[in-house]
Amino acid sequence: MRFSDEFLAEIKNRNDITDVISSYVDLRTRGPRSVGLCPFHNEKSPSFTVFADTQSYYCFGCGSGGDVITFTKNIESLDYAEAVKLLADKVGLPLPVDGYDDTMAKMRRRLLDANREAARFFHNNLFTPDGKVGLDYFLNRGLTMETVRRFGLGFAPDKWDALIRHLKSKGYSESEILAADLARKSKNGHTIDTYRNRAMFPIIDVRGSVIAFGGRVLDDSKPKYVNTSDTLIYKKSHGVFGLNLAKNGTSKTLILCEGYMDVIAYHQAGFTNAIAGLGTAFTADMAKLIAKYADEVILSYDNDEAGQKAASRAIGIISKTPLRIRVALLSGGKDSDEILRKYGKEKMQQIINSAVSDVEYGLMKAKKGYNLQNADDKVAYLNSAVDELAKVNNPIHWDVYASKLAAELGVSKEAIVLQIQKKSTQRVKRETNERFSKAATFDDSALKKVNPERQSNLTAAKSEELLISSLLKNPDFYFKIKDKLTDEDFATQLNLRIYKLIAQRLDAGSPVDITYFSQDLTDEEMGYLVRLEAMRENLGNTVGECLDCIKRIKAEKAEREKKNPAQMTDSEWAQQFRRSDNQ
Ligand SMILES: [Zn+2]
Repeated sequence: MRFSDEFLAEIKNRNDITDVISSYVDLRTRGPRSVGLCPFHNEKSPSFTVFADTQSYYCFGCGSGGDVITFTKNIESLDYAEAVKLLADKVGLPLPVDGYDDTMAKMRRRLLDANREAARFFHNNLFTPDGKVGLDYFLNRGLTMETVRRFGLGFAPDKWDALIRHLKSKGYSESEILAADLARKSKNGHTIDTYRNRAMFPIIDVRGSVIAFGGRVLDDSKPKYVNTSDTLIYKKSHGVFGLNLAKNGTSKTLILCEGYMDVIAYHQAGFTNAIAGLGTAFTADMAKLIAKYADEVILSYDNDEAGQKAASRAIGIISKTPLRIRVALLSGGKDSDEILRKYGKEKMQQIINSAVSDVEYGLMKAKKGYNLQNADDKVAYLNSAVDELAKVNNPIHWDVYASKLAAELGVSKEAIVLQIQKKSTQRVKRETNERFSKAATFDDSALKKVNPERQSNLTAAKSEELLISSLLKNPDFYFKIKDKLTDEDFATQLNLRIYKLIAQRLDAGSPVDITYFSQDLTDEEMGYLVRLEAMRENLGNTVGECLDCIKRIKAEKAEREKKNPAQMTDSEWAQQFRRSDNQ
């Protein structure tokens, strides 16, 4: 079902794109053009641009773009109709009765309900003879019944289809159960429970919905964890465990752990601000999600080498957000769960209180393995310390830590600061180069993907793009050029499709605005369209310019046809000459 032009225009008028985007993205410069860090790809300097005059956005780094609806759709992971609904709700606009296709929303609702039912099933199972082994596992790990209930922990029976049968009895279809990844197809084509004989940890989002599960083996067999794959309602790169509980606290500090059991142990001990990233690696999306709820993150990663490596990786990712970072130096056990069980809450509170800043942590790592009595070691330590400090974009930090290093090593502070400055300049230069080369290639590959015919017909394609851009800016030109161009003249199907969408609207006397195209174009195509729209600054804005484009487009078409006489029919071949006569 489609929304009417009037309704979409109303949505757009009432939801100013700069306002909407600035509630998700920190937009640096306001006015006709605002820029910020792109929420759709990882970047250190802003290439995400919001155009207030056309109410659109475009990222010069990754090529994503569109209108306020496209943005909402992507940032909230919604489908088109849901995004429209959300924006309508925001401004109190009632939805047209027949104008809302809710198929996807219904499906999502079903999957959420199925997950909730599955969580209930796993939990209740703990109190049956079959599930006692699961309950014993949790209790043996020191959890109280209250904690088991609070986290909704459960046990998946050691059967092939226990959950499938249960969900079917509640009215869920096999395809729904598969879509929620609660069951999977076996190698022989049977549909079997995804989780069997595992301790179950439901993943609950900040709205309180069960969106996924983590299942852990009770012994040492492999794989240790089975986790929900991406579904309609869950992206594992976004999953944060415990945030539903941690977000309710008053503290703007969150403790970031490695695993479910660490989080649960922390909460049981009264540290209700503990969370963990899901899956094997901490991601930028997780960092962004956390930054919505906190100012500071204290990393509480395992004491072993793997844990410390993971911590360094996470620091690199989190440092791209505004979050302050500290690192808890765990001692007395390999992880927080063990330390809490062995020494209790007070010891852990001490560890948390004395957590060091990310800079100090970097310096401590730099120092590891060096004997400072030895002159060579001293130089090597100084070099890696300077490397660490050069990663920090903060001259105050440089000054403070250079003083410390100078005192520790008996070297002049000025010399150390100078070294840091030099390395920092080199680093910034290197990163800028990398970014530009990446942006150039990425943008190019994004273009190639969305308009595959573009590259091999560059002259024609660029003329088509200039023409479209000019028509978006000057719709009245269309009536002066429309008879001079046919569908066959176009070299690329995407440009033809966009041109026809514009033409249809103008022929019907409707206004042209990218919002009206967002129902007919994919997200990638919307990005492409906004890119064309953003070209308007380079336009001459004359009918003559449009006619020149058409001339080019036609000349290129003639070229293309000349090149492939073998592929032409006789009449096409003959037509070729007739047309040249006319010109
Ligand atoms: Zn981007």
